[in-house]
Amino acid sequence: RAQAGHAPVGTIYPGHTLALNHVNFQLAEGETVAVMGPSGSGKSTLLHALAGIIRPTSGTVTFRGTDVTHMSDADRTKLRRSAFGFVFQSGQLLPELPAIENIALPMMLSGADYRQATDVAVLWLERLGLRALAAQRPGEMSGGQMQRIAIARALAMRPAVVFADEPTGALDQTTGREVMSMLIDVARGNGAAVVVVTHDPNVAAFCSRTVTMQDGVLQ
Ligand code: ADP
Ligand code: ADP
Repeated sequence: RAQAGHAPVGTIYPGHTLALNHVNFQLAEGETVAVMGPSGSGKSTLLHALAGIIRPTSGTVTFRGTDVTHMSDADRTKLRRSAFGFVFQSGQLLPELPAIENIALPMMLSGADYRQATDVAVLWLERLGLRALAAQRPGEMSGGQMQRIAIARALAMRPAVVFADEPTGALDQTTGREVMSMLIDVARGNGAAVVVVTHDPNVAAFCSRTVTMQDGVLQ
């Protein structure tokens, strides 16, 4: 089990919004799960709580037996960097860096030197058929290309779990499906679990399981 809300997780934001109401969610190693539900139902909050980005106001989140909720901020940051990968809707690449350095950067921040990190980045570019993008900056890429680079960057760190929040939300339907199919394929190839927040049933269809949030409750 990669991740579990051991005690049901609750999150109350300032202003008394109960964004997560006794949510129990378990993710198996390598499992791919889509989180659907209306806007404001708590999908992003659930993802942020599972990923250790926010601390739930009640309940616990555990990762491989370790209580993430009560870790120090420094330890949670370390865990996020080593075990989790993130893909967002858009805007996550550094505009001034070419694709290869965008992919290499997290590896360098984790201690790899430039040469090692860019060698691994090239392998990922090749593996995903993106070699031609190596020297391009995000401003020179299409939305779909940027998302593929963002996926390569997340997967190159060999995360146990990839958290994706509307990763195809800025793409047309065809490109969105291609990007989602790539994400699921490479995650499966790496044994990474995936939690993807999406409004699009076509995107959810790539996952092995779909859960639905409604008013902070996991259906
Ligand atoms: P979704 O991802 O399903 O659109 P969210 O998790 O973003 O839902 O939000 C769930 C609820 O919590 C909404 O009512 C939203 O307005 C509220 N909310 C989200 N983030 C915050 C925050 N940082 N502060 C206060 N309220 C928030
Ligand atoms: P989503 O597209 O997932 O619904 P939102 O646009 O609701 O996301 O939220 C974007 C950001 O704003 C998130 O970081 C969320 O935590 C924050 N946020 C959302 N609702 C509120 C709120 N009512 N008060 C303060 N922050 C909020």
